[in-house]
Amino acid sequence: MALLQISEPGKTQAPHEKKFFIGIDLGTTNSLVAVIQNGSPTVLTDKGNKELFPSVVQYKEDGTVIICNESNQEDLITFRSIKRFIGKNTKDFQKNKPYLPCKFIPDENIIKFEVFDKVLTPIEISSEILKYLKNFTEEKLNGEIIGCVITVPAYFDDAQRQATKDAANLSGLKVLRLLNEPTAAALAYGLEAKKVSKVLVYDLGGGTFDVSVLDLNDGVFKVLATGGNSSLGGDDFDNLIVKYIVEKFDLNVDNELRNKLYLYAKEIKYHLSDNNEFTIDLNKFGFKEKKFIITREEFNRIIESLVQDTLQICRKVLSDSKLSFQDLDEIILVGGSTRVPFVKESVEIFFNKQTLSNINPDNVVAIGASIQASILAGDLDEDLLLLDVIPLSLGIETMGEIVEIIIPRNSTIPVSSSKEYTTFKDGQTSMSIHVVQGERDIVSDCRSLAKFVVKDIPPMLAGSARVKLEFQIDADGILNVSATETTTGKTTSIEVKPSYGLSDSQIEKMLKASFENAEEDITNRLLRESIVEAERVILSINSALKIDGKELLDSREFDEICKARDNLEQKIEQREKDLIISAIKNLEKVSEIYISRRMNSNIQKIMKGTDIEEFK
Ligand code: ADP
Ligand code: MG
Repeated sequence: MALLQISEPGKTQAPHEKKFFIGIDLGTTNSLVAVIQNGSPTVLTDKGNKELFPSVVQYKEDGTVIICNESNQEDLITFRSIKRFIGKNTKDFQKNKPYLPCKFIPDENIIKFEVFDKVLTPIEISSEILKYLKNFTEEKLNGEIIGCVITVPAYFDDAQRQATKDAANLSGLKVLRLLNEPTAAALAYGLEAKKVSKVLVYDLGGGTFDVSVLDLNDGVFKVLATGGNSSLGGDDFDNLIVKYIVEKFDLNVDNELRNKLYLYAKEIKYHLSDNNEFTIDLNKFGFKEKKFIITREEFNRIIESLVQDTLQICRKVLSDSKLSFQDLDEIILVGGSTRVPFVKESVEIFFNKQTLSNINPDNVVAIGASIQASILAGDLDEDLLLLDVIPLSLGIETMGEIVEIIIPRNSTIPVSSSKEYTTFKDGQTSMSIHVVQGERDIVSDCRSLAKFVVKDIPPMLAGSARVKLEFQIDADGILNVSATETTTGKTTSIEVKPSYGLSDSQIEKMLKASFENAEEDITNRLLRESIVEAERVILSINSALKIDGKELLDSREFDEICKARDNLEQKIEQREKDLIISAIKNLEKVSEIYISRRMNSNIQKIMKGTDIEEFK
């Protein structure tokens, strides 16, 4: 474009060159994005100044997808808490079938939902949330996300981690690393600076409770033990308040009223986090003279047994980690529900210790993720090398369906380890290798990751063949298993992608489909591009005007260009792509005469022996 050719190549960074590394807390209930700005972590807010994006994905029959919107609508298929399903198979839910918003399609490997005329996996549904966060962030920061760190619960196995990565790939995000949520919390509090520290992270969210005990040792965060209850959280507090109101007034409630009361209960709970009482008035639901005051003490009594449950789980996890109460250096509170004062008080009384809770417990995980992203990107002045550990042991199935561990959990990666195996029967010429992950002894209690066969073993007596199995995990956490028959030297190897993740070709297919369908994405992208272009044009015209505008233009011409520039600025505000593009064209047109004069003037200056470099 003509205008660009005369622009001042000064040091100013064009807006499109802004690049970011972000941290994402992909929560069961809410998701957040944080980024390091001017050296400190910032949680991004939407237009309504909200930091929390509800992790809700809704599908309309016509294919429209509504993301991060709380409201309930009858004709939509609404997925809440999709994180509960990610990386799981149908078998995982045989005993405990969770609430499903639509039909479930049985499949051995991966859960599938029938969403109107489409079949969708939790990976695709989660990717909608990530895509939304990506677009929101790029628009908000007016730049491009180069990479991200996404947090996952410490207990997530490889299949769940791989599925989370797949969801990110599908959304167009490059994952620098997945980070354990409790580790992120420890990073947010800067605990890595302490050389050795034992930390308990108490995370009470909307529908889940997680406790982890970490051992921070010279930049390595080991998870000593984890535990929790995947169906205990702040939503249960809300349900108990509803129950309390219904019983108090002996109400007859249908579904609609129950939903309304549930939202009301949330309001009551939030209010009681900051105040000592709340006046419950059912007049607004059509009940006359049903009004009373609930105090914080009353609310504490209502939730007391649930809070007690969480403390008992803490006791168990602490004992699993072989630590005692006195060994703990820090206790970190994470999750929106730890804003309930009674929760914080109870934890502090139980451990007889002050908790770390000065960072907003909703934000702490996202903040830690953004710090990690910056460290990985080399942006943050910190010589911290945060090493990843594998969360669960990796091994193979041996005779009798017993697991033999090859790489124990908490090994720092990259890591490799090998073991030799032999044949079970005389003349056995093949061996089937079943790679599993987990801490249990029996294969069926662990997660199956992959199966492959080592063939062409020379027939020998049982116990004389030698097959060397080597497990290698690279820095990205991808496991490669190779088997070498030692007499022939023949090697069979396999890159183990957990079978509950998606193959590259499946992801490619989905990506294509999402491009084809994502009209809205494209519109957004085009708008962003037009804004970037507009800002670039404004930048170059401003810097040119500053140098020789007054010299080369008369005041009428000067004003005309400024007017066209102001008009373009105004159009950027309106966020209409077509208006922006025509305003760019207009600015270019009124600047034409200026451009040609600048060229002439530059040529003249060169002819006079002035080096053009001086104008840069
Ligand atoms: P998750 O990690 O599961 O996505 P969050 O950490 O975002 O969940 O926590 C969400 C829960 O925190 C909800 O149950 C919400 O009602 C509760 N919560 C958030 N803020 C407050 C508050 N100020 N007082 C009480 N509960 C709160
Ligand atoms: Mg959370």
